[in-house]
Amino acid sequence: MSFGSPYVTLPDFTYHRPTTIEEVLKILKEHGDEAKVMGGGVGLLAFMKERLMSPSHVIDIKGVKELGGADYVPGRGLRIGASVTIAELCQNDLIQDKFTVLHEALSRVADQMIRGRATLVGNLCEAIPWVDSPPALISLDATVEVVGPGGRRKVPVASFIKGPVDIDLGPEEMVASVEVPDVSGMRSTFEKFTSGSEFSLASIAVTLQSQGRKRTARVVYGAVNSTPVRCQEVEQVLEQETSRASIRRAADTAADKVECMSDVLASSDYRKHLVKVVTTKALGRLLQK
Ligand SMILES: Cc1cc2nc3c(=O)[nH]c(=O)nc-3n(C[C@H](O)[C@H](O)[C@H](O)COP(=O)(O)OP(=O)(O)OC[C@H]3O[C@@H](n4cnc5c(N)ncnc54)[C@H](O)[C@@H]3O)c2cc1C
Repeated sequence: MSFGSPYVTLPDFTYHRPTTIEEVLKILKEHGDEAKVMGGGVGLLAFMKERLMSPSHVIDIKGVKELGGADYVPGRGLRIGASVTIAELCQNDLIQDKFTVLHEALSRVADQMIRGRATLVGNLCEAIPWVDSPPALISLDATVEVVGPGGRRKVPVASFIKGPVDIDLGPEEMVASVEVPDVSGMRSTFEKFTSGSEFSLASIAVTLQSQGRKRTARVVYGAVNSTPVRCQEVEQVLEQETSRASIRRAADTAADKVECMSDVLASSDYRKHLVKVVTTKALGRLLQK
């Protein structure tokens, strides 16, 4: 990942490796804006090399035991600690079976080497429009657990991401975990389109839950605008009908309703076309399940 800067070395910084959340918070309190929490470091160190971020204190949280582990409690759901890598989550059978959309999104992140270091929470906190985990987490109605001097607070992922590289997190706070509520009778899937590089130009996360004759859908698009876009009109199509004909109706509705941005990677018109493509592909797969 390069933004064209000539820098290849890291700027000077003090490296911290605390073993408790309290220690992390103490370092954040001491250094405020000058400090950055590091999960896998994949994004942070790249940004530092590019001089897009220059924290003088880097807090590596991999040694904090409380931030490890992905635990599922029936009826309550899944809690994923901030230091859990994307690779660990990809290997988790329960996530694959029960929270398929998250499994499929994480399996499509970069390559094996990056997934082996990068964390789900780091991917979320990076809040770059094209990263893969936020649409999947929003489609699962996930929340972020934030800890700071004021204690713990829970924030829905949908409002945690405020804009590109902008999250609902104070300088003295960190993310401890992501929580996904439990559901039964849910089918879900993720699809993304890239033009050959790591940059996704459009992605979609869909969850479809059936309780008796009632169906609830959540459809979230990534990489098409500065933050993930939920499309309730497409959700309504899927809640009414899940026949092959509804796939076309959903894709047309998405192309009509989803607001797409133009940037150096793609025009809004092209993204609208891709929204149609990823919707057709994802729903084609989901409705066959
Ligand atoms: C070559 C390449 C290809 C890539 N391809 C993809 C791709 O296909 N799909 C995709 O989604 N992403 C992709 N990425 C992005 C990559 O997945 C992210 O950089 C990575 O997931 C970030 O996770 P991390 O744990 O390394 O975070 P870090 O680099 O450690 O941190 C990223 C940001 O989050 C903050 N942060 C991390 N943890 C916490 C915490 N617990 N509390 C508060 N703030 C925190 C950091 O301070 C920093 O600002 C790619 C990156 C590269 C370099």
